[in-house]
Amino acid sequence: MMCTTIEQLVERIKAVDKQYDLEKIMKAYNLANDAHEGQMRSSGDPYISHPIAVASILLDFCMDTDTIAAALLHDVVEDTDIPLEDIRKKFGDDVALMVDGVTKIGQVPLNTKEEQQAENIRKILMAMSKDIRVIIIKLADRLHNMRTLDARPAHKQRKTSLETMNFYAPIAHRLGMSDVKEEMEDIAIHYLDPYGCKEIERLMELHKEERDRFIDTIKSRIRERITDIKPEPSIEGRVKSTYSIYKKVYVKNKPFDEIYDIYAVRVIVQSVIECYNVLGVIHDMFRPIPYRFKDYIATPKPNRYQSLHTTVIGREGIPFEVQIRTVEMHNTAQYGVAAHWKYKAGINKNAAGEQRFDWIRQILERQQEADDVELIADAIKTDLAPDDVYVFTPKGDVISLPVDSTVIDFAYAIHTQVGNKMTGAKVGGRMVSFDYKVKTGDIVEIITSNSANAGPNRNWLDIAKTSEAKGKIRSWFKKERREENIERGKMDLEHEFRRNGIIPEADMLSAIAERQRLGSIDDLYAAVGYGGVSLSKIIQRIKEEQLRQQKEQNNSPTKAFENIEENNRRSRRKGIIIEGVDNCLVKFAQCCNPLPGDPIIGFVTRGFGVSIHKLDCINVINNMESEENKERWIKASWAGVDDSTYRATIDIICEDRTAMIADITVAIASNHIPIHEMNAHQLKNGNANIVVTVEVAGMEQLTNIMVKVKKVPGVISVERTGKQ
Ligand code: MN
Repeated sequence: MMCTTIEQLVERIKAVDKQYDLEKIMKAYNLANDAHEGQMRSSGDPYISHPIAVASILLDFCMDTDTIAAALLHDVVEDTDIPLEDIRKKFGDDVALMVDGVTKIGQVPLNTKEEQQAENIRKILMAMSKDIRVIIIKLADRLHNMRTLDARPAHKQRKTSLETMNFYAPIAHRLGMSDVKEEMEDIAIHYLDPYGCKEIERLMELHKEERDRFIDTIKSRIRERITDIKPEPSIEGRVKSTYSIYKKVYVKNKPFDEIYDIYAVRVIVQSVIECYNVLGVIHDMFRPIPYRFKDYIATPKPNRYQSLHTTVIGREGIPFEVQIRTVEMHNTAQYGVAAHWKYKAGINKNAAGEQRFDWIRQILERQQEADDVELIADAIKTDLAPDDVYVFTPKGDVISLPVDSTVIDFAYAIHTQVGNKMTGAKVGGRMVSFDYKVKTGDIVEIITSNSANAGPNRNWLDIAKTSEAKGKIRSWFKKERREENIERGKMDLEHEFRRNGIIPEADMLSAIAERQRLGSIDDLYAAVGYGGVSLSKIIQRIKEEQLRQQKEQNNSPTKAFENIEENNRRSRRKGIIIEGVDNCLVKFAQCCNPLPGDPIIGFVTRGFGVSIHKLDCINVINNMESEENKERWIKASWAGVDDSTYRATIDIICEDRTAMIADITVAIASNHIPIHEMNAHQLKNGNANIVVTVEVAGMEQLTNIMVKVKKVPGVISVERTGKQ
C-alpha cells in the first residue's frame, strides 16, 4: 500500500518487522514539510505527499533509515532554498550524498542530442557507482511520478514516458528490480500508444472468464500432484503484463492467438532440489513445448535472476508458461538489488566495490578508453540493452551476450587473444560465417591460428555488436597496423574531403590533429584508419576551422605567429641532448609537453625515435619501474636555452566578474609576453574558465606569468595544461 500522509507512513514503519530510527525519519519529514510548505503537485495535492509516497515505496523494499530519510528530503535541495550543507549537518554524509545524487540525476536532461546524452548517462552512472541507493531512490521517485502522470499536461506525459521507457526501465532491469521495471513499462506504454494498448486489453478481456477458470484449474491440478512437498509451495497464476504482450504483438508481429505465454503459473518452493522435482512433475502432467525450457538456476541472468522456465500445453490445447523458483530467488526477482536490504543488513553500498555492479564500472571504463563521443553513445545503447543470449563454449562455460551478437563478439568475450587470432567459427560442429548471430543454447567453437599474420579484419568493426569487441578490434589496429592505418585513414579522409568539396591545407590538418590531442597529421590519419576518430567529426572540425581562419584573416592585420608552431618544434628539437645518442629523432610527449627548463627524460619508442617527457609526468612515474620498459628510459637534457620562443597554454579558473579578462591580459602583457590565443567561457557553478596560449622563452618566464596571473583578484587557480 502506498502512503501519502506521514501518519500512514509512521504506522507502516511501526508495523514492519525491522528496526527503524523513527526520530531521524520524523526529523527528515519535518524539515521537508516546512521546506515544501505551500507547494502543490499538478494533481492539487500538497507537495509533501510525493516524498512521503516515495519513502513508502522504499519501505516496501525494506530500505534502511538513511534511505527513507533521503527519500523524504529528495526534492528539498532542488525545489527550496535549503542548502545541501544543512542536510549534511543534520543527517550525516550518507543522507547528504544520496540527496545530492538524486538531485543531480534529476537535473540531467535525457532527451538530448546523442553525444550529450552519452555524457549525461555517464554522470548518472557515476552517481550510482558512489552509492547504489541513489538510483534506487531515483527509481522509486520515477515510479511515483509515473503513477501520478495523469495530472500532468499531455506533452509532459509523453516526454516522461519516453525517458522512462528508454532509460529508467532498462536500469531497473539491470538492477533486477523486475516489478518496478514492469510497472514502469506498463504505465509508459499506455501514454505512448494508448490505442495499441486498448486493443490488447480488449483482446485480453474477451475471454477473461474462461481464462480465469483455466488458470484456476491448472493451479489446483498442480497442487494435487505436489502434496508431499512441505511446507506447501505457493502457486500463483497470472496474466503477463500488458507491455510484454504488446511487445509480442506489435514488435515481434505475432498474432494474439499464437502468443504462448499470456498465461503464467509460478510455483515457489523452499529449495533448489524441489525446483527440479516440481519441474519433473509438470513435464509429466503436461506436454512440454520443445526449446522453450530455460534453466536460469544453473545459468543466472546477468542481473542475477534465477528460475526454471518451461512452456507446456494443457489438455485444453492452450499453452502456458510455468516458472519455478525458491523463495529467495523470488525475492531477488522482485526486488533485485534492493532484496539485500530486505533480507540482509545491507550490501556494500559502494557499487564500485561490488562485483554485481561490474557493468557500471565497465561502461565507465570503456567510455574513458574511447576517443570519440559518438562511439561512447553507441556503446551505452548496446550495454544498456536488456536482452541477452546465453552461448556455450565447447567446455560448457556460459558466455552471456546482448541479442544480435555474432561469433566475433563471442570470441572477444572469451579472450582478446582468441578474438585477435580467430580465423573461423563452428556452431554445433558446423562452420558458420563471421556475421552468424549466436542464439541461446548454441555451442560455439572458435578456430584460431597462431600465424603471425593472423589478425582481425577491418569489416569486423561493422559486424561486431558489443562495444567490448569493437573496442578490442580498434585497439588491435591502433597498435599493430600503424602504416596501414595511416594509408587507409588518408584515403578515407581524402575521399571525404572530395565529397564535401574541401581543399585541406597542411596547417589546418595539424590544427585538427592538435585539437584531437593527436601528435601529428600521421597520428590523425592513423586514428581515422583504426576507427578511433569519426570522419564526420573531422569534417565538422575542418569546416569550423575554415570559418575561424577566414574570420581571423579578416580581423587581424598581422600574422605574426603563423609559423611559430613549426619554428617552435624545430628549435626545441635542436636543443635536446640525449645521453649516448647523436642526431636521433626526437619528439615531445603530448601528455606533458615539456618546455625548456623542465627536468626531462627520454623514452626510446619502437620506431619513432626518442620521446621526451617531463620527469614528473604521470606516464613516467607509472612506467619507470615496469619490467618491459625499464631498459628504454634514457637520460635527456636541454642543450641550453636559446632565444627562440615556445608556446604554452595555461588554464585559469576565476570568478566571473567584469574586467576579469582585461586584468588577466594586463598581468600577462606587463611581462611583454605575446598572447597567441584566449578563450573564455562560463562554468556551471558561476565561475569562469579562461584558457590562454602564450609565447614564452622558457619555463622561468612561464612560471613568472602564472604567479602574476594568480595575484589577479578573483583568480582561483592557474594551471599549465598538458601537465598531468
Ligand atoms: Mn521527486
